[in-house]
Amino acid sequence: MMINLRSFKQKVRYHKKSLKSFLTKLEKNPPKGLHKLIDQVDKEVWAETECLSCGNCCKTMTPTFSVKDIKRISAHFNQTPTEFKEKWLFYDKKDKDWQNKKQPCQFLNLKDNKCSIYAIRPDDCAGFPHLTKRKTVEYIDVHKQNIQYCPATFKMVEKMKNLIG
Ligand code: SF4
Ligand code: SF4
Repeated sequence: MMINLRSFKQKVRYHKKSLKSFLTKLEKNPPKGLHKLIDQVDKEVWAETECLSCGNCCKTMTPTFSVKDIKRISAHFNQTPTEFKEKWLFYDKKDKDWQNKKQPCQFLNLKDNKCSIYAIRPDDCAGFPHLTKRKTVEYIDVHKQNIQYCPATFKMVEKMKNLIG
């Protein structure tokens, strides 16, 4: 399904608070069989979500780049890791990781929302939005942030709330 980011932002404005308090409840008291339920909801979410009509994660957020990511991607561009970092990244002292200087991400093709380094993109991008992570409860804070930017995360939390909220 195509994503309309304008109506998504409106939905976020109206429902952000209730979805966040649902996530807080889930964190404190995760029900039995939570992962099974998430796997089921995850399938539904992706059947209804067309990321290429959105790209909002690459437009508005930054991935974190691990040392391995930096080595792999810089080699692809015939750069040293230091050159790559100087050109594109900064070190976030608070989070202790390497992040993009720019948003949208320099590797996003804004015409079709495709990643120009898809095959070698950072692991963080490959795993985003981390919906089926086994340690769901540890990702609650991440989801609380991401419901504001990622329609797939928003949909997952909304569906979970309808089922068990
Ligand atoms: S590296 Fe690719 S997938 Fe990751 S944020 Fe940039 S454009 Fe998006
Ligand atoms: S992962 Fe979320 S924010 Fe990124 S393109 Fe897909 S729906 Fe949009």
